[in-house]
Amino acid sequence: FPSHDKGGIIGKKDQDFFPYEVIRRLRSMEKQAIFEEISISFEETVQLPDGIHTFIMTKFPIVNDQNKVQTLAGIYLDISDRKRAELDLAYNNDLRGEIYNGSADAIFLVDPFSMLTFDCNRRAVNMFEAERKEELIGIEGQTLQKCKFTEAQIKSIHGDIEQFGYWSQKVEYITKKGNHFWGNLAAKPIEVAGKEMNLVRVTDISDRKKADLALAQTQAELRRVNLELQKLVNLDGLTQIANRRCFDERIMYEWQRLHREQRPLSLLMFDVDYFKRYNDCYGHQLGDDCLIKIAQAVELLLCRATDLVARYGGEEFIVILPNTNIEGAIAVAERIHAAIADLKIPHQCSDVKDFVSVSMGIVSDIPNLERSPCVLINQADQALYHAKQKGRNQSVVFTI
Ligand code: GH3
Ligand code: MG
Ligand code: MG
Repeated sequence: FPSHDKGGIIGKKDQDFFPYEVIRRLRSMEKQAIFEEISISFEETVQLPDGIHTFIMTKFPIVNDQNKVQTLAGIYLDISDRKRAELDLAYNNDLRGEIYNGSADAIFLVDPFSMLTFDCNRRAVNMFEAERKEELIGIEGQTLQKCKFTEAQIKSIHGDIEQFGYWSQKVEYITKKGNHFWGNLAAKPIEVAGKEMNLVRVTDISDRKKADLALAQTQAELRRVNLELQKLVNLDGLTQIANRRCFDERIMYEWQRLHREQRPLSLLMFDVDYFKRYNDCYGHQLGDDCLIKIAQAVELLLCRATDLVARYGGEEFIVILPNTNIEGAIAVAERIHAAIADLKIPHQCSDVKDFVSVSMGIVSDIPNLERSPCVLINQADQALYHAKQKGRNQSVVFTI
């Protein structure tokens, strides 16, 4: 009784030190010791003022000359420290077992030389859909994989473990019931009871993998839809060539690019001759068909990747010719006139020809960032106006 000196103990009764429950057990043991004339030991854990103590309490009878029990002696051996150590050990063992078996990952102990599994935890049994733990012991872990590692891979695994003390990789597994799942396989060497072992951990990542796959699919779909949308946003619904929006964007881009490069940009703006009359004469439907044919023909004859023909307005088209000087622009203009003439779309009501024709304004300049490309567009429009005035079915180059 560490809290008492000898004086504090002498003259006291055991009930002064021990709780009632303990005293009751003590009394019953004492009776047995007296009547059976034997020594009795038992373990008792009690709360004392300075904390919890465990005693081994031994009661034994003392006999007189006639061999009759005279009195009882008792030994109270405080084994608290030993008890605590024992408890700690048991607790640690249980805890380790709890972690081992309660883990969300499958854990295998693998012999590093034979590569055979030595032990596995409870989770491994259910992850690999085995009936019993024994099915997973004494086997080569690789037999659970969809594809075995190659010699080279095994070499690199051993290399990694040696160098980093750790190795991991995503692996596709097949369970004992034939189901597939993706796992993250990680291995590291540990020492178990003085023996070198590999601790192999498998984390089920099939959900993560499925989510990754779904995400990738969604992203691909989104990219496809965006591309489709981008196309729709920039395309003229009737003629299927670039629309005004696309033209506006492209002209700004080329204006800046060619300013940096100090290279010329040419514009062709053309308009169908007497198109109001065409509609009146052949109907709006044929009018639409006519615009489609012209648009497609012009798009086909442009050869450079950066050339662009766009529907600018009702029956007005505009062509961007980057890196093209006035001579080049005139050449393209002539090819457009020829291509439209080749279409031979009848136009009885035209004053210039029996077939559909266009008038065109041509302009070429080296972009200057102090001016907006609208200036160039206006100049093309003015040139187009002159072409109409000069009798249609022709091109006019803008001059100041
Ligand atoms: P000009 O030779 O001076 O260009 O005479 P025009 O008749 O072609 O000129 P105007 O601008 O007076 O007429 C253009 C006509 O084009 C008016 C309109 O009915 C027609 N038009 C505009 N957009 C479309 C379209 O999408 N489809 C059809 N069918 N006709 C259209
Ligand atoms: Mg017009
Ligand atoms: Mg017109």
